[in-house]
Amino acid sequence: MAEYISILGAGLAGSEAAWQAAERGVKVRLYEMKPIKYTPAHHAPTFGELVCSNSLRSDATSNAVGLLKEEMRAMNSLIMQAADATRVPAGSALAVDRVLFSEFITDHIRNHPNIEVIEAECDRLPDDGVTVIATGPLTSDPMADYIRDQLGCGGLHFFDAAAPIVDAESINMDVAFFASRYDKGDADYINCPMTREQYDTFYRALVSAEEAALKEFDRETQKDLTVFEGCMPVEVMARRGYDTLRYGPLKPVGLIDPRVGKESYAVVQLRKENKEGTMYNLVGFQTHLTFPEQRRVFRLIPGLENAEFLRYGVMHRNTYLNSPGLLCADYSMLSRPNVYFAGQMTGVEGYVESAASGLVAGINASRRAREMQPLILPRTTMTGAMALYVQNGSVGSFVPMNANFGIIQMPEKKVKGGKAARNAVIAETAMATIQELLPEISK
Ligand SMILES: Cc1cc2nc3c(=O)[nH]c(=O)nc-3n(C[C@H](O)[C@H](O)[C@H](O)COP(=O)(O)OP(=O)(O)OC[C@H]3O[C@@H](n4cnc5c(N)ncnc54)[C@H](O)[C@@H]3O)c2cc1C
Repeated sequence: MAEYISILGAGLAGSEAAWQAAERGVKVRLYEMKPIKYTPAHHAPTFGELVCSNSLRSDATSNAVGLLKEEMRAMNSLIMQAADATRVPAGSALAVDRVLFSEFITDHIRNHPNIEVIEAECDRLPDDGVTVIATGPLTSDPMADYIRDQLGCGGLHFFDAAAPIVDAESINMDVAFFASRYDKGDADYINCPMTREQYDTFYRALVSAEEAALKEFDRETQKDLTVFEGCMPVEVMARRGYDTLRYGPLKPVGLIDPRVGKESYAVVQLRKENKEGTMYNLVGFQTHLTFPEQRRVFRLIPGLENAEFLRYGVMHRNTYLNSPGLLCADYSMLSRPNVYFAGQMTGVEGYVESAASGLVAGINASRRAREMQPLILPRTTMTGAMALYVQNGSVGSFVPMNANFGIIQMPEKKVKGGKAARNAVIAETAMATIQELLPEISK
């Protein structure tokens, strides 16, 4: 048995991986650059820091990420123990007190007899033993360069973007109206209709508005920059042509304004940001405008004249590997089986998904150190389906993916009773599979 394994990064994936290996009796050296150096999004010295929202999303097994969490609980996940111990009321979502959550993880890691924490910024693999790289979407530059140039991973940087969120009470419902396109399903969207003149005013303001300066860390990645089409800033899309938005996110077709009984020239749609419907995001409005410009320009949208912005749109770097062809479903490299990756950089997306990949990578790195065969979870489980997506997702167009029922194996027989009944069968099968494999998983 190897003397120890190395894990780089004590974020959500790295902490989970360290815990899983240590719980199997394997010695772990866990490297973390905080508090010596922080990424632009990390601020606390503790491990498993949540860099943005404090929500780990739905906790119901009828939801893909809810099922993933339940599987992780069954597999002794540290991140799930921390979440359950520090949860705050949030309806059917699992939200946590972020400070207590990270403290819980840090205490368990620092007090584990098999884990040694080393505070250092890594710029290479520490040695040629078994290593898990979990330095995250904001991996510091020397390590990102090493991964790309020395490990031959061709790490890809791109900008990820978020749209602004407004307070529902500040939307003028004398102008805006609830409807879904072509009246399909529930009327979940708030629609802000525009006349031709209003669109013209808005359009001219948008294309000439001031953009935020690129942060240093973003500027440095300009050479590799790929603007992810699905996340194109609204102002960039607008500059492609006067009508581009009207054929994109501001498409008016199928949305009848009840006050005039017809379609408008353009429509801005807002989608619920939370279950209670107290916050709405502007659909397709990911943006890189300065905050004052967002306030000025987006308030030109009819119905949003007095909008209160709860969060402005932001863009940030996201680094991930083109994993298919590079990684196996145990998260090890095809070309260097001693090297594992875990977390957001493998192409899973989200806090829980990152931790789940850390769980699988940690188990497998510890198995390799003990000269055991890899443990590949089947596609009937959400944890296994995510790992198989990372291994097999189409090369070239590979994009980070949240847990979802589109990647898990469907029941063999058609389930009567619609999607909810089908998802219940999927969840039941997944949990039964985990229970059945638990003796092997726990080794
Ligand atoms: C700005 C931003 C906001 C996000 N918001 C959300 C959200 O709201 N909800 C959601 O579900 N997901 C969100 N994500 C996506 C993702 O879930 C998180 O980034 C998540 O923290 C990823 O987990 P990880 O373990 O892969 O990386 P991280 O949690 O980032 O952990 C990586 C760790 O490695 C350390 N590190 C980096 N480089 C080195 C080095 N060279 N040597 C040693 N240590 C190093 C870092 O300090 C950090 O502690 C967001 C991502 C970003 C970038």
